[in-house]
Amino acid sequence: MNQKGRRPVSYASVALDIPTRAIDAAYDYLVPDGLAATATVGATVLVPFSGRDVVGYVMDVHEEPPAGVAPGRVRPVTQVLAEPAFDGAAARVARWMAAEYACPLCEAVRPFLAPGQKVRVTRASADAPWQLVSEKAGPVDERWVGLVPAANDYAPGQRASRQRAVLEALREGPQRVAELSATIPGAASAVTALAKRGVVEVFSRRSVRGSEATSLSSAAAPRPERLTAGQAEALAAIDAAREEAAGGVVLVDGVTGSGKTEVYLDAIEHALAGGRGAIVLVPEISLTAQTVGRFRSRFGEDVAVLHSRLSTGERFDQWDLVRRGQAHVVVGARSALFAPLADPGLIIIDEEHEASYKQDSSPRYHAREVAARMAAERGCALVLGSATPSLESLARCRAGHFLGRPWTRVSMPDRPAGAVLPKVTIVDMAEQFRGGRRGVFSAPLAHALEGVCERREKAVLLLNRRGFANFLMCRECGCVPECPHCSCALTYHERTHSLMCHTCGRAWPVRAYPDPSTCCPNCGSRYMGAYGVGTQRVEDELHALLPEGVEVIRMDADTTRTKDAHQRLLEQFDAAECAVLVGTQMIAKGLDFPEVTLVGVINADTMLKLPDFRASERTYDLLEQVAGRAGRGGRPGEVVVQTYWATHPAMQAVLLHDRSVFLTAELEEREDAGYPPFSRLGNVTLWGRDERAVRQAADGMAAALREQVGARAGWEVLGPTDCVKARVKDQVRRHVMVKAPSEAALGAVLSSCAASLGRLQGINMALDVDAYDMM
Ligand code: ADP
Ligand code: ZN
Ligand code: ZN
Repeated sequence: MNQKGRRPVSYASVALDIPTRAIDAAYDYLVPDGLAATATVGATVLVPFSGRDVVGYVMDVHEEPPAGVAPGRVRPVTQVLAEPAFDGAAARVARWMAAEYACPLCEAVRPFLAPGQKVRVTRASADAPWQLVSEKAGPVDERWVGLVPAANDYAPGQRASRQRAVLEALREGPQRVAELSATIPGAASAVTALAKRGVVEVFSRRSVRGSEATSLSSAAAPRPERLTAGQAEALAAIDAAREEAAGGVVLVDGVTGSGKTEVYLDAIEHALAGGRGAIVLVPEISLTAQTVGRFRSRFGEDVAVLHSRLSTGERFDQWDLVRRGQAHVVVGARSALFAPLADPGLIIIDEEHEASYKQDSSPRYHAREVAARMAAERGCALVLGSATPSLESLARCRAGHFLGRPWTRVSMPDRPAGAVLPKVTIVDMAEQFRGGRRGVFSAPLAHALEGVCERREKAVLLLNRRGFANFLMCRECGCVPECPHCSCALTYHERTHSLMCHTCGRAWPVRAYPDPSTCCPNCGSRYMGAYGVGTQRVEDELHALLPEGVEVIRMDADTTRTKDAHQRLLEQFDAAECAVLVGTQMIAKGLDFPEVTLVGVINADTMLKLPDFRASERTYDLLEQVAGRAGRGGRPGEVVVQTYWATHPAMQAVLLHDRSVFLTAELEEREDAGYPPFSRLGNVTLWGRDERAVRQAADGMAAALREQVGARAGWEVLGPTDCVKARVKDQVRRHVMVKAPSEAALGAVLSSCAASLGRLQGINMALDVDAYDMM
């Protein structure tokens, strides 16, 4: 290839798009002269592999020939299929992800690719050329029309009223032909006639889908006159970390409503002034028009928005705005982290404690960890914001560093403009039940709701959906039966009328309410059953409780199924004079409606009994977050929390607005049991139809792990045991857990043990590093 001596020979390392553990490295190919300009890092290419052509992604281009192959025998890249989607720094992050999260390289590359541009190759016949197909979501051009200077001298004929209307409309500036046609019937033919006369010009313009605006009152938050002391301190810390350009992490630990978003906005403004961009991650659920509106009102067209409720075409357009350098601020859900922003000065993760930052399919990455790596790789700062930071982030800040990077915490303990945190009441529901109140609402909550209606204000009611029906609970004493051997809650299996322990596997027969033989092991009550309340029931009881003329808006999986439903319901709540919003977890975050003066939590403790070491943390986070929705405006707020476990540290911490009440108890338990942040936790799940084969494979994995790390200090292998969801779609599920020191290379250990098992027929295996879902 180098006969002409013009260009040194170069090689491309290509990640093949074959998702298997057997192919975990990039393969080197020769870059032919004709492709030197296009087969660059990030490009999608076609290369020969094992007797056929496969799609791959260029990770790196270099001049040293690959080791172990004679230079003349390196095969060339066949074709370039798509222009670069990522750069060298991103490629290095992808390689790190593959190792860190024990996944095939191509799966780590996928999040970086253009949305909706799935590349498939096909050909009509054996000797026809390979072709790229199904590029469904590519760019779309639209027809626009605008006046040309000659229009000034043109007077349409007496009867050409449509032409006159079109010319009139265009005086304001060019318009889309489609839009004109919607307001002026027959506009399209008038445009054609005018174009023929040389009065207007028709041109095509790249459409940018997914940039619509919102009408929410709070979306255009004006810039406050001055920052609070906490905000100024946080901003200074972020600026310093950005200028240092060393991948420093700043945790903005600010109570709900302390003005974290305002800090982000200013910090981004500073980054933009320094010629760099910013990526802002927000939990999917709080990525409402309200949040987006605040960013758009500050940065206008420089903002691209990426989340899963956009259509693929919309996502592509927004992504491409970033790639073409037309938007420098990316606001989006987890996957927006991978947007092709050339030079981010900041990566911001809002509500960093959210479990949704952990992806539950391969690559099973945590956005916080990938962002930290990216920040180090690109020399920018990572900002984490939360009113309830994760225990992991708090521990790293306490240590001052993690994996060689500085971690700093800045606290914002106050709300601006004298707004105070709401007053909290904890209601013991067993006591209410014994006192004769058997409905959804306790006396204090019913009373508070009536007050809201009298004062024509607004209330938010949270119904915690996770975890309830899986347990039996006594309504008179709040007891949940536990395993006497493992001291964890027993799971109720309605079908087999049994209580089961998912730690040791023991099971007991049981009769639940309303069976007459039911009996609480603690107090003998017959009101022991699987109590779950639906949002529908809450809505019905609300209608019975409240006077006429109070709007009740229900927000749950059922009412938010369609694309913009979530948004519409919020707008309805915003516009109402006096209303109650009832919803599941999805209402806990990000809502900022100043007229909300009451937040009620209908069932605070349903998650506490889940076999998950983060159950308490999640409960505390949820309560503190939802409580923060009250009293954000001028009027003081009130929070009523209904629970069967009023003494739990999570309830007490929320009652006192004192996180340390929860933290002290929780950290002690975590340290005793060796859970994060004192370790990192891996979870290997195996499933398949053949129970014996699954058991054998799980045993094999556990044995491999024990052999490799069982004797190392700080490592522990647990199991195998049945998963909580022991059987899903006729497949048997077992898992093995591994605890490792908090900076250990857990991914590498899981990968090598998995590889040592060889090919497992009919068995699926998921390796999950830093697992969040262990069910
Ligand atoms: P958080 O993100 O911490 O929950 P927000 O950024 O949403 O808080 O701010 C809460 C409210 O306080 C918003 O209505 C915001 O406009 C307002 N706000 C923020 N900073 C200030 C400030 N320095 N002075 C006055 N109001 C502020
Ligand atoms: Zn047990
Ligand atoms: Zn009881």
